[in-house]
Amino acid sequence: MSIKFSPPDISEEEIEAITETLRSGWITTGPKTRELEELVTDYTNSKGAVCLNSATAGMEMVLRLFDIGPGDEVITTPYTYSATAAVILHVGATPVFADVKKDSFIIDPKEIERKITSKTKAIIPVDIAGYPADYDEIFKIVRNNRVFRPKKGSYQEKLGRILVLADAAHSIGAKYKGNSIGSVADFSSFSFHAVKNVTTSEGGVVTFTNLDSRLDTNSVYKELRTLSLHGQSKDAINKIKPGSWEYDILFPGYKCNMTDLAASLGVVQLKRYRSSLSNLREEFFNLYSKKLSRDSRFILPKYIDEAEGTKSSCHLYQLRIKGLTEQERNRVILDLANKGIPLNVHYKPLPLLTCYKDLGYKMEDYPNAYNQYKNQVTLPLHTLLTRDDIELITKTLLSI
Ligand SMILES: *Cc1c(COP(=O)(O)O)cnc(C)c1O
Repeated sequence: MSIKFSPPDISEEEIEAITETLRSGWITTGPKTRELEELVTDYTNSKGAVCLNSATAGMEMVLRLFDIGPGDEVITTPYTYSATAAVILHVGATPVFADVKKDSFIIDPKEIERKITSKTKAIIPVDIAGYPADYDEIFKIVRNNRVFRPKKGSYQEKLGRILVLADAAHSIGAKYKGNSIGSVADFSSFSFHAVKNVTTSEGGVVTFTNLDSRLDTNSVYKELRTLSLHGQSKDAINKIKPGSWEYDILFPGYKCNMTDLAASLGVVQLKRYRSSLSNLREEFFNLYSKKLSRDSRFILPKYIDEAEGTKSSCHLYQLRIKGLTEQERNRVILDLANKGIPLNVHYKPLPLLTCYKDLGYKMEDYPNAYNQYKNQVTLPLHTLLTRDDIELITKTLLSI
């Protein structure tokens, strides 16, 4: 059997749950979506969660909730998937890239500080591969910042400082200094896309904290829901109550709600993830590191800081190979592909992509990101792998 890069792990339990929802007579946003929101709130120890149809939509809705738009700047990392920066462009604001730390895939707080201006409205750190960003340093920066100029009458003004929105697409189940990701940044957007640790095929969920007690979290929940459903005052499930036909449209909202069909898949996935799948990922991640540590050419990815209580969700195994150029790295990928082993690269830094080049971003301005990228390969890491697969992958890598 060939090794796959990241197939979904779907058991009979998910199939039964979806079938049950199909038979129930309610397939769009309703009780199953609510159930998943409650499970996520509990798992992440956050103040609430709103399920949507993607993590991308989640980030965009939060930026819109905070009235971030033309003339505003949002700081993020160049070492991520395009979605992180695309949402900034979608709302009409300007992405400002802060390079990653040296020899790390994580955004550098010192670079963030250097890039802040009076136009900065939000920071979007990425918990890349599932390893949390440096939230304490980032919160110190936004709390000490004195140049912040909020828009009058907006949530920006109520919060009174730069917003911290985590791109937590990879990091469900990760811990930062003992706290669950989802309860650390002001908002965290998790992805349930087919290749992520927990899936609803397509989907995502935004969690939030108490927001320094400056905003009412019940209204935050309601407003995110309304934003995601046409700006309509009542959702479908509340409209079917006897005699409750009437509704209002408060503003031209968006359409990115989660269906109960997707949520019923997510409920089973999240339960399986909590009880076993997350441990299996961790075990495979550590098995790779143990086997590859024998060869000093390999730079192993970070998994844990025990003293700090920070731990990855083990979404991706981002290996680096010392001394390789971009071309040599690509040859390694081709060699292994010919041996039936699929490798990948996460990610091509955004300034190397046409969209961002055309906007004037230059790779030379982010040397640390380029150095991480040029010799990086991502190994298959999922819960359908076997220990024999890992033995074969590591043996092949050690022989290159
Ligand atoms: C997958 C991913 C996203 C987008 O998630 P969707 O649910 O597909 O919108 C955003 N950021 C990163 C880093 C991702 O890997």
